[in-house]
Amino acid sequence: MTFEQLELIAPIQQALKDENYVAPTPIQVQAIPYLLKGRDILASAQTGTGKTAAFAIPILQHLVSGPPPPRGLRPIRALILTPTRELAIQIGESLNAYGRHTKIRNTVIFGGVNQNKQTQALRRGVDILVATPGRLLDLMNQGFIHLDTIEYFVLDEADRMLDMGFIHDIRKVLAELPQQRQSLFFSATMPDTIVSLSRKILTDPVKVAVSPVSSTAETIQQYLYLTNKSSKPELLLHILKDPEMDQVLLFSRTKHGADRICKNLHKKHIGAAAIHGNKSQNQRQKALKDFKEGRIRVLVATDIASRGIDIDQLRYVVNYDIPNEPETYVHRIGRSGRAGEEGISISLCEPEENEYIQSIEKLIDQRIERVEDHPYPQTDRPMTAEEKRTFEKEKARKRQEYFDSRRKNKGNRDSGRGYKRNKR
Ligand code: AMP
Repeated sequence: MTFEQLELIAPIQQALKDENYVAPTPIQVQAIPYLLKGRDILASAQTGTGKTAAFAIPILQHLVSGPPPPRGLRPIRALILTPTRELAIQIGESLNAYGRHTKIRNTVIFGGVNQNKQTQALRRGVDILVATPGRLLDLMNQGFIHLDTIEYFVLDEADRMLDMGFIHDIRKVLAELPQQRQSLFFSATMPDTIVSLSRKILTDPVKVAVSPVSSTAETIQQYLYLTNKSSKPELLLHILKDPEMDQVLLFSRTKHGADRICKNLHKKHIGAAAIHGNKSQNQRQKALKDFKEGRIRVLVATDIASRGIDIDQLRYVVNYDIPNEPETYVHRIGRSGRAGEEGISISLCEPEENEYIQSIEKLIDQRIERVEDHPYPQTDRPMTAEEKRTFEKEKARKRQEYFDSRRKNKGNRDSGRGYKRNKR
């Protein structure tokens, strides 16, 4: 199948040529013809499959070739709702790329930054709005956005939206959309909650599915290093001695862990930056840009922050820890080997994580290759149930102690400040 066979208009064909896309991906082949005919769609596809183009291209084509909008200020005709600002930005960039030779305008709105630039763009008029739910509702409440002119509605990463607690926000948005519209629903997984949400949104949808979450891309080579918890920093440095690994996306379960890993890499003069929920929007954008442009070698990300990362031809993913949800592992390594490129995933597993590997191997139905020959083999054994209980108890006690002392310090500071203020 070629893009010509999909009967795309010339300006979009040209933009895809500019992007060096040779052929449509399976989700594009399956979805685009129906979407061009105006059908609703329920698509099961994860990031990395080319799903953004699958919904962006038909919307652009409809907007370019359909009847022109009424005169005056451009009404917002398409709304794309997505869970994170990173994803929103990526979608905006994709729309810019695919719509390069058209006059269609889009803007992206998300929280965590000042709203002025966003409201200015809205005032100038846009055809397509890409939004995260919180900021969208906020600007709707302030009267900057009205959804009664929406003709195309996309709910992107629906499962992630629900995981992040956006269900009420989604309902509020749905209540404002016109009944007459085309709706596109994308989700990596399709549990019952998602299917029932989709029923409220879609009318007689076409169902398409590509590489379900349990199937890891065949092009990804997966390796596993069994080691001890304390050896992971050294083992990582050992692995990074390979000069081939010039662009590595590394996952850390926690934000603190991510910062610690970066610090250790900096000590060895390895360029690294972290992106996670505690980083400002500007810091995240800069880290991503530096990574894409080769100024840093390792981008350390938590799972949520990583969601919107879109890097063409990313080869290496490192799991610094093993996720306890096997689906998360599949999502993580799916970031490499995108769109037919060969990818390599390397996982560092400490004794407490051995059991997670078992559930991952069950889900993906294959054995991950063990790297036996390395200087930091696993010599510790996993804790017994009794040891684990004691360990968890001790951890809870320490956490409590930490919060108690923080509260006490805060109390002291607050009363101190009050005293000064009174004195003045
Ligand atoms: P997505 O699943 O939308 O996050 O897209 C994953 C990556 O695939 C992005 O970097 C796109 O630029 C790229 N991509 C999308 N469609 C194609 C295509 N037909 N050929 C090559 N790359 C593509």
